[in-house]
Amino acid sequence: MGSRVTHLPRTIIIVGAGFSGALVATNLLRLSYWRPLSVVLIDRAPRMARGAAYAERAHPYLLNVPAGRMSVNSHDPLDFLKFAQQRLRAATADDFLPRSLYGEYLEASLLEAELASPPHLRLSRLQATVSSIERSGGTSGASGTSAIGGASAFRVKLEDGRILSADDVVLALGNPPPGQLPATQTLLGSPRYVADPWSSAPEFPAGETVLIIGTGLTMADAVIAGAAASRDKVVFHAISRHGLVPPSQTAFRHAGCEGDSGALLRAASFSAKRLVRAVRELTEDVQLRGGDWREAVTCVRNLAPALWQRLPTRERKRFLRHVRPYWDIHRHRLPQQTLAQLEQLRREDNFHVHAGRILDFELVGDYIRVRWRPRGSDEVKTLLVNRVINCTGADYNPTRSRDPLVLSLLAQGLAAADGLGLGLRTGTHGALIDSRGRPASHLYYIGPMLRADHWECTAAQELRGHAERLAHHLATPVAKPMFALERA
Ligand SMILES: Cc1cc2nc3c(=O)[nH]c(=O)nc-3n(C[C@H](O)[C@H](O)[C@H](O)COP(=O)(O)OP(=O)(O)OC[C@H]3O[C@@H](n4cnc5c(N)ncnc54)[C@H](O)[C@@H]3O)c2cc1C
Repeated sequence: MGSRVTHLPRTIIIVGAGFSGALVATNLLRLSYWRPLSVVLIDRAPRMARGAAYAERAHPYLLNVPAGRMSVNSHDPLDFLKFAQQRLRAATADDFLPRSLYGEYLEASLLEAELASPPHLRLSRLQATVSSIERSGGTSGASGTSAIGGASAFRVKLEDGRILSADDVVLALGNPPPGQLPATQTLLGSPRYVADPWSSAPEFPAGETVLIIGTGLTMADAVIAGAAASRDKVVFHAISRHGLVPPSQTAFRHAGCEGDSGALLRAASFSAKRLVRAVRELTEDVQLRGGDWREAVTCVRNLAPALWQRLPTRERKRFLRHVRPYWDIHRHRLPQQTLAQLEQLRREDNFHVHAGRILDFELVGDYIRVRWRPRGSDEVKTLLVNRVINCTGADYNPTRSRDPLVLSLLAQGLAAADGLGLGLRTGTHGALIDSRGRPASHLYYIGPMLRADHWECTAAQELRGHAERLAHHLATPVAKPMFALERA
C-alpha cells in the first residue's frame, strides 16, 4: 500500500466585494498562487466590484481624484486612464471621470484577472449576507499557527442559514452608515429625513428647501445631484461645526518631499501641536519654492501611517479634537468643476453654508423647523426646511455598529475596537487584533476602518496598497505544507 499526496484547494473567503474585496481577489488571481486555491467573493449586493462609491446611480457623480491617479495597479499608474479612453477617447490624466465608469473598470479588472488565471485558481462569486464568522474547533487563533489542509480555520455563516468553510477570511465590509445625531431622533422614520444618502437616494422636489448636515464631499454630491435633478430651484442650506467646504483639486505634479519627512516624523513623536507646526513649515517651504500647498498635504498623507503610529495616544486625541476638521478639509478635495457649480449656486442664493451646531428638529406639517446656534455665538437661529439629509459621513466606531457581523466578531473577541472610535485594531497585513491584543492568524481586515492604526486609508490610493500587500502575503507559501495524505 502506498500513499499519494492530494493537494486540497485552500479556500479564502472575502466578505465584501466593493473596492477593497474585489482588489484583493484581483491581486490574488494575478499572483498565480502555487497550489489549488478557491477564492470566494461574497457580497450582499448583486453587482460585485462596485461598493457604495462606484455603483450605478441616477446622477453621474464624479471621482474626486483625477483619472491619472486612480489606477488599481501600482505598477501601471495609467491603467484606469487607458480603460477610460476606450469609452471617452479625449479623456486625459487630469480629468475627473464618472464614478460609475470607475466601477466598470473595477469589474473589468477582476474579470480580466479571472480569465487570465491558471486553472488551479478558482474564483466564485456569491450574493449573500454574512451574519457571523466563527473559528472552527481545534485551531488556535494566536499568531504563528496555520491551518492544516482539510481542517478549515473558519465557519462563515450566511443570513440564509448556509455555512461555508474557509482557511482564511478577509473582511472587506466597507463604509458603515453615518452616525445619527441625538437631534435627528425626532426625524427617524419621516420620509422627509434621509439618514444615509447612499442607501436611499434623496428626492429633490422643485421649490423645496433642503438642509444638509455636513459640509464635506457627500454634501457636495447631494447639492450637485439635487440642483441637477430639479428643473425649478431647490434651496440648499449646509451646516457643520466649522462650516468648512473642501477646496479644489489642481493639476499639480507631486515631486516628493525628500529631506522633510524626518522633521515631520520627529515632530509627531512629540505632540500634535509640533506636528501641525512642522506641516505649516513644510507648506511654507513648498510655496516659497513656487509649489502648491497640496504638495505638502500629499507628502504628509504619504507619511500618515508612520506619523499616526508615532503620535502618543493623548496627542492623537488632541489631533482628533482640534486638527481633524482642518486636515480633512485640505486632504479630501473637490474637482474644480464641482466647486464652480457650488459657487454658482451660492451666487444665485440657492446654496448657503453655516458654521454652527444643530440644537433640535421639529416636524411641523410639510416642514421641519431647525433650531441651531452659530459657531461662537449664544444666539439661537431657526430655519424652516422641507427635507433634511445626513451627509456627515460613515461612523467608523465599531462599538456603535448595528451590523450583526461586526457585533458578533466583537462579542467573540475575534475583533477589537480601537480606543478612539476610529475603527478596528489591525496588525501586519491587516491581521485582526483580538480582544486580548493578539494578531489573528488567517483573519484579516481591509477597508476604511484601518484608520485606527494607519489614519489615512479611505481613498483608492491607500486601499490599493493594502490590497496588494495583503494578496501578496496570502499568496506567499506557508512554512507548513498544506496537504492531505490519502491511502491508495
Ligand atoms: C461616495 C463615495 C465616493 C468616493 N469617491 C472616491 C474617489 O473619487 N476617489 C477615491 O480615491 N476614493 C473615493 N472614495 C473612497 C473609497 O474608494 C471607498 O471608500 C472604497 O470604495 C472603500 O472600499 P471598500 O471595499 O472598503 O468598501 P465598499 O466599496 O463600500 O464595499 C464594501 C462591500 O461589502 C459589502 N458587505 C458589507 N458587509 C457585508 C456582509 N456582512 N455580507 C456581505 N456583504 C457585505 C457591501 O455590500 C459592499 O459592497 C469614495 C467613497 C465614497 C463612499
